[in-house]
Amino acid sequence: MRPLIAGNWKMHGTSAALGQIAAIARSVAEEAPACDVLVCPPFTLIARAAAVAGAGVAVGAQDCHREPEGAFTGDISAEMLRDAGATTVIVGHSERRRYHGETDIDVAMKTSAAWRAGLSAILCIGETEAERDAGQAAEVVARQLDGSLPLGANPATTAIAYEPVWAIGTGRTPGDADVAEMHALIRKRLTDRLGEDAAGLRILYGGSVKPANAASILRLPNVNGALVGGASLEAEEFLSIIRAIPQGA
Ligand code: PEP
Repeated sequence: MRPLIAGNWKMHGTSAALGQIAAIARSVAEEAPACDVLVCPPFTLIARAAAVAGAGVAVGAQDCHREPEGAFTGDISAEMLRDAGATTVIVGHSERRRYHGETDIDVAMKTSAAWRAGLSAILCIGETEAERDAGQAAEVVARQLDGSLPLGANPATTAIAYEPVWAIGTGRTPGDADVAEMHALIRKRLTDRLGEDAAGLRILYGGSVKPANAASILRLPNVNGALVGGASLEAEEFLSIIRAIPQGA
C-alpha cells in the first residue's frame, strides 16, 4: 500500500506561506518519494495552494459542512472545497470535536458529504489522556470508528487517522507497541465491517510526528502514513518526514 504523508496546517498561514507549498512541490517533483503527499492549509489558501502544488502534491481541507449549500453562515461545503481544488478533507479532528462539539454523528455526516462531493476523507479518531489512563483507549477508539464511519467506505475514498489527543502538539508520542496495537485494532474493526476492502484502507498515525521519530513510527505494522501538524508548516521539516518513507515502500 502506498503510504500517505498529510500535513494539517490548522489555523496557520497567509499568502506568504504559499512558498512552503511551492518548495514541497519542487522537491516532490525532483525526488519522487514512495508516498502520496497532501497539504491541508486553511480554507483561504486552498485555491492558491492547488495552483502552486503541481501534480505531485494534493491539497485538502480541514473540515467541511454536511450540506452541499444553504443558510449556514460561515460554513464551507465539500462541494465548495472540491471546486476550489481540494481532493481531500480531514473530518473529526479532535480540535473540531473539542472546540466545536462535533459528535460521531456529525463526523459521519461530514464524511458522507466528502464522498458525495467526490472528495476523500481522512477520518480522525483518538482517545484523551484521561481515557488512556482509565484503560479505555481501545474502547473509545472503537466507538469513534464505529460511530463516525458511514457505510460504504473504501480505500479510494477514506483513510483513518489514529491521533491520540494527548500526543497532538505536545511532543509526546505513544510507544511503538501502543501504536501498533491500536492500528491492529482499527484494521480488525475495519475488516469486520468492510471485508477485503479493509486491507487497502490507509491508517495514518498522527500526534507529534517529527523528522526525528518519523522513520520508527512509519515502519510499524498497519501504519500507512502520517497526519502531521506542527512539523508540516516548514517545507524542509515536512520533507524530512516524507523522506523517512523508504524508497520502494
Ligand atoms: C494534528 O493536528 O493532526 C497533529 C497531529 O498535530 P501535531 O503533529 O502538531 O501533533
